[in-house]
Amino acid sequence: MIYQRVALIGLGLIASSMAHAMRRDGLAGSIAGTARSAETREIAREIGFCDDVFDTAAEAVADADLIILAVPVGAMADVSREIGPHLKPGSTVTDVGSVKGAVIQAVSPHMPHGVHFIPGHPLAGTEHSGPRSGFAELFERRWTILTPVEGTDEEAVAKLRAFWEAIGAHVDTMDPDHHDLVLAVTSHCPHLIAYTMVGVADDLRRVTDSEVIKYSAAGFRDFTRIAASDPTMWRDVFLSNKEATLEILGRFTEELFALQRAIRTGDGEHLFDYFTHTRAIRRGIIEAGQDTDAPDFGRGVKR
Ligand code: NAP
Repeated sequence: MIYQRVALIGLGLIASSMAHAMRRDGLAGSIAGTARSAETREIAREIGFCDDVFDTAAEAVADADLIILAVPVGAMADVSREIGPHLKPGSTVTDVGSVKGAVIQAVSPHMPHGVHFIPGHPLAGTEHSGPRSGFAELFERRWTILTPVEGTDEEAVAKLRAFWEAIGAHVDTMDPDHHDLVLAVTSHCPHLIAYTMVGVADDLRRVTDSEVIKYSAAGFRDFTRIAASDPTMWRDVFLSNKEATLEILGRFTEELFALQRAIRTGDGEHLFDYFTHTRAIRRGIIEAGQDTDAPDFGRGVKR
């Protein structure tokens, strides 16, 4: 056991997956939880991944040693305001939000003296959401990034790191702004591009009837999977990681124009060199153990 009592604020994909993993590995003495809607709380009770499900966040955090904020980034300020006065001195508050700078701004003002706030982000997810979508293996061999601000208690950080490692994750620490830039490249902008491509295909469908669906090939199918991700979560990601996303989108547009020009002018050498370079990046990801070389590219995963 690493923490005596863990409180989950929000009971969706990430929180329920963490609860299943904590249960599997005996990492928490007991697990309390709460969600915004009565419906989600009822489902959580029915599945039973928490020991106690409370109607309010204030009740859920009472006596907790680790509090995990697992709500959309845009809701972090409100839940922190609510739990602030009820936190136990010496407890650790962490979050799983996909953006770090904005979450630190939203949460920090509500943290009382003597409570350790250590922002975090597990780089693991699926396009599914809600309390029924969680599974214990979600974080295995995936990275969790902690972005503690200067002066954070080192023992509290080491304990949270040990907790994530016990769940199966690799853990790294990073400066919050750097995290937001890296994630804009590796996750946020790719999602926006997938949303856009599916939108374009949807427009086209009106012209070509159902051909876009019927002949949907691997590339487009993978885009539709990404573009099925939770709209609330992704709206909040873009609104709260505005600067980094716009910076990367600017660079993306420049590269896209260069490729567009190469196609227009018949510059095959440019295209070939570009694609040779990007192929090497894919090899690097496989060698780093972050994906497999399987030809089904994710479609073998049932969840
Ligand atoms: P989810 O499955 O949609 O669950 C979100 C939970 O937050 C639900 O229990 C929901 O309650 C609650 N909630 C929503 N809006 C709220 C509000 N305004 N006030 C209070 N509670 C609210 O989401 P998730 O995928 O677990 O994501 C949770 C966090 O993890 C987000 O910050 C996201 O950025 C981050 N994250 C997600 C992924 C991913 O791929 N999904 C990966 C890494 C990190 P109800 O069910 O009652 O509405």
